[in-house]
Amino acid sequence: MYHDTIAAIATPPGEGGLAIVRLSGPEAGEIATRIFRRGRRLRAMTLDELDSHRLYYGAIVDPASERQLDEVMLARMRPPRTFTREEVVEISCHGGLLPVREVLNLCLRSGARAAEPGEFTLRAFLNGRIDLSQAEAVAGVVGARTERSLELAVDELRGRLTTRLKPARDALVELMAYLDAAADFPDDEIPGIELDPALERARSALAAVVAGARSGLLYREGVQVAIVGRPNVGKSSLLNALLGSERAIVTEIAGTTRDVIAETINLRGLPATLLDTAGITETEDVVERIGVERSRQALAASGIVLFVLDGSQPLERGDRDVAALLRERLSGDAVVVAVNKADLSAVHNGDPSSLVDPRWPTVSISTRTGHGLPELTALLHEQIVGRSESAAEPALVTIRQLDALRRALGAVEDAQAARLAAVPLDLLAVDVRTALYAVGEITGEHISEAVLDEIFSRFCIGK
Ligand code: GDP
Repeated sequence: MYHDTIAAIATPPGEGGLAIVRLSGPEAGEIATRIFRRGRRLRAMTLDELDSHRLYYGAIVDPASERQLDEVMLARMRPPRTFTREEVVEISCHGGLLPVREVLNLCLRSGARAAEPGEFTLRAFLNGRIDLSQAEAVAGVVGARTERSLELAVDELRGRLTTRLKPARDALVELMAYLDAAADFPDDEIPGIELDPALERARSALAAVVAGARSGLLYREGVQVAIVGRPNVGKSSLLNALLGSERAIVTEIAGTTRDVIAETINLRGLPATLLDTAGITETEDVVERIGVERSRQALAASGIVLFVLDGSQPLERGDRDVAALLRERLSGDAVVVAVNKADLSAVHNGDPSSLVDPRWPTVSISTRTGHGLPELTALLHEQIVGRSESAAEPALVTIRQLDALRRALGAVEDAQAARLAAVPLDLLAVDVRTALYAVGEITGEHISEAVLDEIFSRFCIGK
């Protein structure tokens, strides 16, 4: 338990209907009694009068000047039923930046210390209220960009990752206990356990989470979709149609999209950043060149490429160049073809699909009429999710957690290989210990100060 009381503004900066100052620590209630007044006569309250989990209407008054800073609602929450398991006070102020800052400053002058980023969540974790994967999920809940990512983050907040890892952890603990005993008492008869089934239980539980983690990462981090094609096929129009708003500038002159434009859309629950690129063609125009250069970078970084063709025109060299580039640079499952301008009559000499790699799925669309757009988003979603083995139930994990999961799985697989090679038990113990340690890094049982700092410093202040 901490001995100091921290305070911070818990709501985002800027103007809003309300803004909340949160205090946590042994003195939170005490500080509230110093600055909170109730009723028309602004009467101070004693600590006993402030019931737990009850909302009080009143005012924040600076005791030094007797100046009233804001009219507020105040709640005192006594432990253990609080987010941090410490005494918590929440003061709802009026939404402007000034009143809430003044209230926070008064809390700081009245005995509280300014909270570090993520410090409330850190306390919740260190006081055993949540485990580390849940603490990280708090960041996921706040940062969720689609409803599906939010849903997954909330699951994680309830401790689902830890629950899913439990069979692996239990099997590893059982193995470790057995191997330790066998090492300590080599001559005694140790009641045997079935080593191989236990290892397999650990492996399959870890493998399932790792598989789910890849699609989970998609929902958390999102995916990039680069829209490519020669000038004038309708890339900007498609971007706009997908965004449902006018973001890129559409022009009649070929090659006028000078830069890469990025916008995020909700692609059936996936946060997808669309990158509109200038035509990837050789050109003497310097400005165009810069655009082209950036397009190539965007291409390399993208999750999936949406290759746009103009179905009303015969194929041009530009189309073939882009196709060749995609074929050369990307794997077959990374490209989706949209044949645009389906509202115009299609040309037959040079049917675009003849150029299309048989591996690339194709949809006919019109950005003008909206024809084929639902099919296109469904296809994109399917390709993206398909590439990440989404048959497994998605698990929302951070990159750090995924790294630990992979190390745990690798160590269990090493242990299984060691069993096949009839390696002595004490060597097996090394692998099992490594796996157990890596699982512990996810839930926070084994975690260094430095990693904790890293995780919580990514939170914003007040969280
Ligand atoms: P970009 O250079 O590939 O970004 O192409 P633009 O989006 O700027 O579009 C080029 C031209 O094609 C513009 O005049 C658009 O209005 C037109 N266009 C785009 N999509 C369609 C479509 O589905 N049907 C028709 N008829 N014209 C389209």
